[in-house]
Amino acid sequence: KEGIGEPWILSRIRTIPDFPKPGIKFRDITTLLNDARGFRKAVDELVQPYVGVAIDKVAGIEARGFIVGGAVAHQLTSGFVPMRKKGKLPHATIGQSYDLEYGTDTLEIHEDAIAHGDLVLLVDDLLATGGTADAAVELIEKAGGKVVAACFVIDLPDLGGAQRLRDRGVDVISLCQYH
Ligand code: AMP
Repeated sequence: KEGIGEPWILSRIRTIPDFPKPGIKFRDITTLLNDARGFRKAVDELVQPYVGVAIDKVAGIEARGFIVGGAVAHQLTSGFVPMRKKGKLPHATIGQSYDLEYGTDTLEIHEDAIAHGDLVLLVDDLLATGGTADAAVELIEKAGGKVVAACFVIDLPDLGGAQRLRDRGVDVISLCQYH
């Protein structure tokens, strides 16, 4: 089986073949978010290891990391930091570039969004090669924050992202995996 995880979550994730381009199996979490019990349970399971831990900020990566990360921040009573693509944030920013298959992209946060010593939980919907999450960790650390863990609804372990993050000392949590 390509999907590893509990039936409640695997049954609520939709796979779209050849999106956004041929050969990619897009793992669509809108069907999970659309389902009240599924959305609740996914957020509950992501926060569960951090209940009672003093998380100062939850950082969510644009755009699906905003949805999941916002709910996680609310439940942990933490602040929320949007990590956005270049040029979207209105105030002074700090940025971190990362390589894509073709070219580069840049993630930005407001320069005052994370205080020195803040404990930060990083959240996104899906971990693939880890290029995005690695840049996010770099940026949080540049701002003076400490990444407690990186949390994802889905991990694609064959693409090496989880290993890449663990190699730099970041704990990785995911609710299900696809091979
Ligand atoms: P990466 O930087 O390679 O780890 O890619 C992670 C980012 O790309 C996340 O923000 C995901 O939302 C998106 N992504 C990559 N692969 C997929 C996929 N197969 N299905 C859905 N989203 C994906």
